[in-house]
Amino acid sequence: MQLYNKLSAKERAELIDQAGKSRLTLSFYQYANIGNPQILRDHLFLTWDSLEVLGRIYVAHEGINAQLSLPADRFNEFKNHLDSIDFLKDIRLNIAVEQDNKSFLKLKVKVRDKIVADGLNDDTFDVTNKGIHLKAEDFNKFIDDENTVLVDMRNHYESEIGHFKNAITPDVDTFRESLDIIEADLKDHKEDKNLVMYCTGGIRCEKASAYFKHKGFKNVFQLEGGIIEYTRQIKEQNLENKFLGQNFVFDDRRAERISDDVIASCHQCGEPFDVHTNCANQACHLLFIQCPKCKEEMENCCSTTCMEVNRLPFEEQKELRKGQGNSNDIFKKGRADHLPYKKDLRNIFDYFQKK
Ligand SMILES: [Zn+2]
Ligand SMILES: [Zn+2]
Repeated sequence: MQLYNKLSAKERAELIDQAGKSRLTLSFYQYANIGNPQILRDHLFLTWDSLEVLGRIYVAHEGINAQLSLPADRFNEFKNHLDSIDFLKDIRLNIAVEQDNKSFLKLKVKVRDKIVADGLNDDTFDVTNKGIHLKAEDFNKFIDDENTVLVDMRNHYESEIGHFKNAITPDVDTFRESLDIIEADLKDHKEDKNLVMYCTGGIRCEKASAYFKHKGFKNVFQLEGGIIEYTRQIKEQNLENKFLGQNFVFDDRRAERISDDVIASCHQCGEPFDVHTNCANQACHLLFIQCPKCKEEMENCCSTTCMEVNRLPFEEQKELRKGQGNSNDIFKKGRADHLPYKKDLRNIFDYFQKK
């Protein structure tokens, strides 16, 4: 029995081209009580591998979080398989707005402690006591309500390229950080305001809403299915789109364009631009925004130092990296001080002033 990938990304990309079939990119998650995540993991891998599914799936005692692609003509088989699993029956699937046959090139199903790295100790509160789910139409009404505080539950590099009009976008690297900031900023409004939250696909708000209710917030709401499902509903029902710019996604597409507004700037020259890249220096790999002109001039690097390193022969680069630890600990996403045009995000004080 083959329980793991055998093909490289390159071999897989060639196979996808040869097959010439269009693929669907979709995501879903579910909190549940899974007794043996390893058994579920193996079962999913075997079944989905045979359905030509590719993607990144996390399975934990607390549930499943899946982002994947599959050939469009195998969708019904896939859906039937989901429906055969008790806790996944009739689950809502977030179908990507922009389709790309190569959004994923491997099938990775991993057992994790948690389906989202949220940094929370769940024993201290009831995660099933969630906020009220809002569909796009009601969400739009809530945004316009002056008693609403609209909060983006994502990280700074996500909200920088796209967010809802008038949303608070905490300047944070992690979900855990944003919980504390929001709680502190809104401590005087736990009862008189509607706390309305959103994230990419809804999963972060599931936990956040339960957390804020536990912390004493009385009116807690969340956008059902996140920005992805919102976009689908506004198209289907011809509603006003209140989301500006791009929706950052965690696959090779990086982002989906939701509106034509470009709300971000190139971090190096300040020109309007909203597409992320990773610094070409492998030891840096910083995620930042770089326009095509700067990309060419800087050889896809975030700094002249990185440019110099990147020009060295690979072996020498490796030598330099020794003992430096994980690059993610050294360089944070889009936070390097040498990027002059990294935007300051909106905090709660501007928010109340503008309202
Ligand atoms: Zn630029
Ligand atoms: Zn760099």
